[in-house]
Amino acid sequence: MRIDKILANIGYGSRKEVKKLLKNRVVTVNGETVTDAKTHVDPKKDKMTVYGEKIEYKEYIYLMMNKPAGVISATEDDREKTVIDLLEMEDAVYEPFPVGRLDKDTVGLLLLTNDGGLAHQLLSPKKHVPKTYYALVDGTITEEDKKAFAAGIKLDDGYVTKPAQLNILRSGEIRSEIELTITEGKFHQVKRMFEAVGKKVVYLKRLSMGPIKLDGDLAEGEYRELTDEEIDLLK
Ligand code: URA
Repeated sequence: MRIDKILANIGYGSRKEVKKLLKNRVVTVNGETVTDAKTHVDPKKDKMTVYGEKIEYKEYIYLMMNKPAGVISATEDDREKTVIDLLEMEDAVYEPFPVGRLDKDTVGLLLLTNDGGLAHQLLSPKKHVPKTYYALVDGTITEEDKKAFAAGIKLDDGYVTKPAQLNILRSGEIRSEIELTITEGKFHQVKRMFEAVGKKVVYLKRLSMGPIKLDGDLAEGEYRELTDEEIDLLK
């Protein structure tokens, strides 16, 4: 990767400003002063400094986002805003991608990483990683629904879901509040499970994925790096 691109991505200014930095002889790579913007650097191996300060360029990045409604869980899209558009350049430079998908109107926990191995572990159908959602649902949720979810729900395409745990937080005549834990990730799964019992999800928020719980201090659209402890829980 070109040194000017790395420095610009990390936040040392535009390519033009970075060129000036290089000209001013304040950038070193492996102890040697570098002035040519075209110099190629391997950010994983080469040691870079600017004004004598070491540049942190790590191999993997692990983020948790409180995804807002209205953005899609993709890395790029011609028309829609993506979760990657919400990242600061200094994080986007690591090219993280969302671990699985949340619908455009779903909010809550979304993990992003560039660690393909870890993403695969979390998404593999064989691993049965539990995901817990909070939902507002139109209609009255009953004990029968709870039993049906525990037994497995036949979706519109004939697929029968694995046992899911439905907790009824509040069952109203018009609207109910629930928490649901599923261990799969079929397309629109939560919404389709409720549709199968004649109810409509009107608000959906993911609360946890495996051992990682959404940080309550994150407002919608905000994100943070996972702590070392959280990363250890995932591995
Ligand atoms: N299930 C859904 O229906 N939508 C989501 O975004 C996630 C799970």
